[in-house]
Amino acid sequence: MSEDRAPSAAFVRNAAGSLACESTELRALAERHGTPLYVYSAASFRGRYRRLGAACREHLAGLDPIVAYSVKACSSLGILKRLAAEGCGFDVVSGGELLRVARAGGDLGKTILAGVGKTDAELELALEAGVFQINVESAGELARLDAAAKRRRVRARAALRVNPAIDPKTHPHLATSAPTSKFGLELDDARGALAAPERFPNVEFVGLHLHLGSMLRDAHLWEEAFERIAPLLALFPGGSPKTLDVGGGIAIGVGSEPELAPEKWLTRIGPLLRRVGARPILEPGRWIAAPSGALLTRVLDVKNAGGRRIVVVDAAMNDLIRPALYGAVHPIELAARVERAPRAVDVVGPVCESGDFLGKNITLPDPQPGDLLAILDAGAYGFSMASTYNSRPRAAEVLVEKGGDVLLRRRETFDDVVRGELL
Ligand SMILES: *Cc1c(COP(=O)(O)O)cnc(C)c1O
Repeated sequence: MSEDRAPSAAFVRNAAGSLACESTELRALAERHGTPLYVYSAASFRGRYRRLGAACREHLAGLDPIVAYSVKACSSLGILKRLAAEGCGFDVVSGGELLRVARAGGDLGKTILAGVGKTDAELELALEAGVFQINVESAGELARLDAAAKRRRVRARAALRVNPAIDPKTHPHLATSAPTSKFGLELDDARGALAAPERFPNVEFVGLHLHLGSMLRDAHLWEEAFERIAPLLALFPGGSPKTLDVGGGIAIGVGSEPELAPEKWLTRIGPLLRRVGARPILEPGRWIAAPSGALLTRVLDVKNAGGRRIVVVDAAMNDLIRPALYGAVHPIELAARVERAPRAVDVVGPVCESGDFLGKNITLPDPQPGDLLAILDAGAYGFSMASTYNSRPRAAEVLVEKGGDVLLRRRETFDDVVRGELL
């Protein structure tokens, strides 16, 4: 099988039964770099990006699509640098993310600035940087963009992010297109702006943007959204938009729920994009990053609580907030193969919050203090959401690449945690 079509799973057991990233045992990485530790597979990031690219070449041929990796999923400079080297574009939602792309050597001409509330400074930064387009989310922001472009003496390329007001059928915190969502413009407001371009003389309306939510499994959602935005298409200068940004949100597989295979997704939406004829923009984050990373953590203690078995580990919600924030379920495995009776346990962190757990009712071979656990599918919205809550220094990040391992971010120290504070 070629790497293009089917990247092999990044974390697999080797012949000795030890969990490894590519061919490097997780045990060795934990010994070398300590825990908690984020481990990423370079081959998985590349392989998944290439698989998406191959699907685009097949289903969007001739439309010159841009795959703009959603930086917020995993924003480490070392990851961005490697994706940039593959020719990837980027979707950024803040000035900070834009500066990350620039620092990593990413192509700002293939970078899109999105986000529900951009400051004037962020709009000017994006104009100065010459980003590919700015996705606008309110009439007020459109006026501010017009003013910023005037100050900068440039013409801003703007896409309107519209809210098609459909039910994306995902976790409420992952939905961005419900009727009362804070994201995007209502269709009527988008129509009003497109019908009066003379009100925004320093803005060129280049396209529309949709981002329906995250962990979406059903391509029909896009079909429904395309139907709702269809009446807007003819309002663009020249009778059609230049770009159509379909957002991200492609689901990964979780438990018995399968992924939304990008090939299948593009088979469904490809013909619709073809009919519009605009340059498609895709903004995948999770689908590329999540299976490409794991969080390693060591068991500190085990105890009983009202009939439950509690496994206290050295990673916590400050390292991986997804279980607490979204009720996310991550596979958790013991790194070593051990012959012990399986036992249902709750894996919890040391943070002083009842919400601080990494997995509940997980069956593992009776975990013992000192055991190394791997929390899988943690490459997206893992480290990028980490904080120093409870004054815990943030974890290190390491990349396995070509048989070696590269430190992408050193473990923080107490001095890092209090940097910037004044006594
Ligand atoms: C977060 C986000 C994405 C990426 O979503 P995934 O579910 O990680 O693919 C894409 N576009 C926008 C505008 C976003 O905010």
